[in-house]
Amino acid sequence: MKLVFLGPPGAGKGTQAAGVCMRFKIPHISTGDMLRSAVAKGTPTGLKAKTYMDAGALVPDEVLVKMVGERISEPDCVNGFLLDGFPRTVAQAEALEEIGKPDAVVDVEVPDEKLLTRLTGRRVCESCKGTFHISTLTGTVCPDCGGELIQREDDKPATTQNRLNVYHAQTAPLIDFYKEKGTLRVVDGDKTPSEVFEAIRVALGG
Ligand code: AMP
Repeated sequence: MKLVFLGPPGAGKGTQAAGVCMRFKIPHISTGDMLRSAVAKGTPTGLKAKTYMDAGALVPDEVLVKMVGERISEPDCVNGFLLDGFPRTVAQAEALEEIGKPDAVVDVEVPDEKLLTRLTGRRVCESCKGTFHISTLTGTVCPDCGGELIQREDDKPATTQNRLNVYHAQTAPLIDFYKEKGTLRVVDGDKTPSEVFEAIRVALGG
């Protein structure tokens, strides 16, 4: 099963991806995580991506298409994959049609005002990469592994609104792109994580 998770930043795509990947036994490919890891390692891709990411802007299409093309050619993707954060532009979606046409595209929808609260309150564990919200945290370390919790640079208030603007201008047009292909499944992301998971499971017929 080749899946794409569409939806604005903060919609819960990463959280839901973990459960969906376990159920369908496919790897979770988050382009944001791949780019952050490239930045941390100082690779040529990371060096190119960093300025765009810190500004909440999109990294150029050719960088992403090459990175995803290489990743989905790896042996663990023979039975499919879940792409989280890719495609984000029509050009990326057109390239994906050539290299790994998705069977289903799940659009997780959440109103903007909720997204801003979610994003600015999000904390990520440096060790296990788990994501949490300050409203549910009782301590200062990761409740799962005890690792250090940090705020992503692009989750700071100065950048979050720009990321939402970029989503509406460049990524939201993909909703119509996939509606026309007949692969779009819309899910209400403004619910509890388990309710959203159930809705995704039903939408995917699994
Ligand atoms: P995310 O973790 O998915 O919110 O991604 C973090 C940042 O990585 C985004 O704000 C972009 O700067 C960059 N990024 C991730 N995926 C893509 C993509 N498909 N196209 C362009 N930039 C991307």
